[in-house]
Amino acid sequence: MGNENFEPATTAITAGRDDSGSLAPSLTPATTWSSSGLEESHRQATAIHETKFYSRYANPTVEAFEHAIAELENTQAALAFASGMGAVSSVVLALCATGDHIVAQRNCYAGTLAFLNGPCARLGIEVTFVDGRNASEFAAAVRPGKTMLVMAESPSNPHIDLVDLAALGAIKGPITVVDSTLATPLGQRPHDHGVSIVLHSATKGIAGHNDATIGVIAGDAELIGEIWGYSILHGATASPFDAMNALRGVRTLDARLTRQCESAQTLAEWLSEQKNVTAVHYPGLKSHPQHALAKKQMNYFGSVLSFEIAGGKPAATKLLSALRLIRPAVTLGGTETLISHSASSTHNSVDADTKAKTGLTDSLLRLSVGLEACVDIQRDLATALAQSN
Ligand SMILES: *Cc1c(COP(=O)(O)O)cnc(C)c1O
Repeated sequence: MGNENFEPATTAITAGRDDSGSLAPSLTPATTWSSSGLEESHRQATAIHETKFYSRYANPTVEAFEHAIAELENTQAALAFASGMGAVSSVVLALCATGDHIVAQRNCYAGTLAFLNGPCARLGIEVTFVDGRNASEFAAAVRPGKTMLVMAESPSNPHIDLVDLAALGAIKGPITVVDSTLATPLGQRPHDHGVSIVLHSATKGIAGHNDATIGVIAGDAELIGEIWGYSILHGATASPFDAMNALRGVRTLDARLTRQCESAQTLAEWLSEQKNVTAVHYPGLKSHPQHALAKKQMNYFGSVLSFEIAGGKPAATKLLSALRLIRPAVTLGGTETLISHSASSTHNSVDADTKAKTGLTDSLLRLSVGLEACVDIQRDLATALAQSN
């Protein structure tokens, strides 16, 4: 959509502007716009994504955010939702019916997993789960004519596994979806690898300040238009206020990511050397089993890492209580460094078998690296690690 050939960091500054000259996103809380009469009303009611009709159909503030994401993801269109889960559920229900089949990654966000295992199963939409780390498993599980969607997440939350985006994008037949939340639009561009739909919980790194709950998808205009047609009935509509904050977040995304990734790399390397840390998962580490793939498909390795602590849950419990700067909390990608014990919090609902298959052990801690001085984060971890055993 961009008419200039800028670097993505620059596009993050230029994208999603209106022609008012305002240097901040304009907040338009209006639910409804008046029309000139019957014919204009009819046109508005039947147009796709008409911004001056009724806000559930489209809203100018939300549209500015959508334009920015489409430009950053190098897609024709984008569509925002009330949350990341609003995006996940709307995509699935827009594209699948009873009797259809989905191939999905087992090692993914627990909300997505719960949606596929719960409402989808209840509606008779069958799901085959695969290990996203093995590129061939997605394609092998596709049933021609029956599989509507192939759903992946890269990097995965919380084990930081990667999916080979080019292999996923090469799958023909079903629509492919990548939840790219942990990468953000500046970290990787799945659509460039042939993936049909890029999905984000923009609540995380995109908005980046823990003040907006919002989701977004990006892809070809025709497909996004089809999902829009369902979305106005589903009603998981993005709030203009959240879209304003998310677009504000886009402006500083590159600066935040640069700093966060630098700190995450330093911390990942340092954690790898600590005696009561048994494993560290971060794609920027040479020891990450998919480091070569990460270098190939990612521009930034991300602000999130996870590590395993010796001594399991009792040690993790002690560590969380001993921290003074890093806060125990469940979101990621924001300005504060946060830590979470995935198995008992975000991923508490995951069944034991899936937890075992995806490395969701009681020792696993997810660290979302914020913007504090790295040395302070490291000192806080060092003190708490010393007290955890
Ligand atoms: C948080 C998250 C979601 C869900 O997003 P919400 O905005 O909380 O609904 C989906 N996928 C991933 C990878 C996430 O981290």
